Amino acid sequence: MIHQPILLLVDDEPSNIEMLAAMLEDEYELRFAVTGQDALAAIKEMPKPDLILLDVMLPDMNGYAICERIKEDPITADIPIIFVTSLGDPEQEEKGFAVGGADYIVKPCRALSIKARIRNQLEMKRTRELLHRLAITDGLTNLANRRHFDEALKQETQRLQRQGGQLSLVLIDVDFFKRFNDCYGHPEGDECLRRIASVISAELRRPADLTARIGGEEFACLLPETTLAGAYVVAERIRQTVLSLAMPHQTSSTSPYVTVSVGIATSSGIDSNHLYQRADTQLYMAKTSGRNRVVQDAALI
Ligand code: GH3
Ligand code: MG
Ligand code: MG
Repeated sequence: MIHQPILLLVDDEPSNIEMLAAMLEDEYELRFAVTGQDALAAIKEMPKPDLILLDVMLPDMNGYAICERIKEDPITADIPIIFVTSLGDPEQEEKGFAVGGADYIVKPCRALSIKARIRNQLEMKRTRELLHRLAITDGLTNLANRRHFDEALKQETQRLQRQGGQLSLVLIDVDFFKRFNDCYGHPEGDECLRRIASVISAELRRPADLTARIGGEEFACLLPETTLAGAYVVAERIRQTVLSLAMPHQTSSTSPYVTVSVGIATSSGIDSNHLYQRADTQLYMAKTSGRNRVVQDAALI
């Protein structure tokens, strides 16, 4: 079944809600709120509404203040808000846009116009989401890309500094991959990277874990709330599973099959550059000490 977009209708006047509902119920899944507090509670309900139709005059709060609250919260900021109000003067309309409203409709509303405006906003939201997804996704493997990884590392580091806990970083680099390409060709190389990406994704099971392709044949796993010992288990499973795929690599000096080297570091509150550098140093150690192995940073800063 195709999921219908979810609209949240906020109005304290039951007849307004009924009229809007009659216009929209065929095309959308509708939720309702009759006060500001109700509306703020309703936007937290999952899945989030795709769009909000917001009255300005409500018994407990005005619509502009509600809009500001929704726009302040990064979790809800991307939900388009259309004001639907009887306040038709230009200053009011200006205020509606100033607080982050996407559109401003003066009652009485005509069905055709309100439907078209809702459709336009939903279309723009879908396009924004698609662009965002493309901007943070690696095209070859569909994993997160470098940009996404850098951003996530920054955020997780900030969270660590606020809340404490442990953050682990696993860096994975394919061994002798230049030779693999030279021997089997670039398309085979791409296929090999896709298979390794699938192994890494399959081994990461917690929703907060992030797997990214951060360079040509380099991958990273960012593991919040994970100890060094926990990260080691994950890393070792990845190394063994890649080996067990038994992808032939006749020019590797390490193994007849494709292998990976892995470096790990864990942090309980230093800045992200250090965590990255420390994991990278361990990866370098894994390379220089023979490849096809996991090396962990013993120092926990
Ligand atoms: P090491 O064991 O020391 O890591 O050696 P290496 O050859 O894997 O490392 P190096 O960094 O010298 O070479 C990486 C190679 O990865 C270079 C290039 O041939 C290959 N590569 C990078 N990006 C891609 C890609 O998108 N597709 C394919 N097929 N190959 C890539
Ligand atoms: Mg490399
Ligand atoms: Mg390599």
